[in-house]
Amino acid sequence: MTTPNGRIPQDMHTHNRISCDSQATMEEMCQSALERGITEIAFTDHFDCHPDDYCHHFYRPAAYFEQLAAARHVFEPQGLTIRAGVELGEFHRFHDVQQPVLDQYPYDVILGSLHWVGDRSVFDDDFFKNAPPQDTIGAYFRELAELAQYGGFDVLSHPDVIKRVAYRVYGEFDITAWEDLVRPVWQACIDNQIAIEINTTGLRLPVQQAHPAPDALRWYREMGGERLTVGSDAHRPDHIAYEFETARTMARAAGFTRLCRFERRKMVEWMDI
Ligand SMILES: [Zn+2]
Ligand SMILES: [Zn+2]
Repeated sequence: MTTPNGRIPQDMHTHNRISCDSQATMEEMCQSALERGITEIAFTDHFDCHPDDYCHHFYRPAAYFEQLAAARHVFEPQGLTIRAGVELGEFHRFHDVQQPVLDQYPYDVILGSLHWVGDRSVFDDDFFKNAPPQDTIGAYFRELAELAQYGGFDVLSHPDVIKRVAYRVYGEFDITAWEDLVRPVWQACIDNQIAIEINTTGLRLPVQQAHPAPDALRWYREMGGERLTVGSDAHRPDHIAYEFETARTMARAAGFTRLCRFERRKMVEWMDI
């Protein structure tokens, strides 16, 4: 598959009201995707199991697949491929609950996310206010490596999400200070054939940087990492494909010329960018 005019036509990380933190319907998200030139979208709703997580016990796979079938019926004839996805929180800790659901339903792509470092949320300002960066950012990358080493999912999502709040509290975020902790994460992804994601959410936040940071994306490529996807992490229609020109520029600058397409948990095709 080739992309016209150097655009990125896939958005592999989006949410809708199956996620506890989104009000959008799949129909609204699909409509927006078509308007933005997207031809492949994955709905990757939150399946979070940390007992203190806001979304704990919210995920409803049966309702998800029902709504997905309805959206496919309307939008696939219009040229939009809709992938069945899910965003798993802390699979290395909660696989006993999550794996049976993965076995039961026909997912195309599974995102692995880390939103909790031990029992601290990466979105909680107090976690950062009371600790030095080594105990927050450092601990995050160590646990992210554990998650990637555990494996069992297809794409590591927003692989430095910690910087959203870290930047706000510490006033800076420099990925080069964490290179020794990021490389083991990438090595585990490469060993387990896990793709990484360019997630553009950070570009609409004060940190003003996609996930991962451009230098880290370059390290992944230099280490032999090939598998890459792009996602907006949109929770509302106007964020679909957000800043994808920047994502493409970043991917090309790091040495990538293609992205992965997933179907039924397999990487089925490369997409030139
Ligand atoms: Zn997430
Ligand atoms: Zn997400």
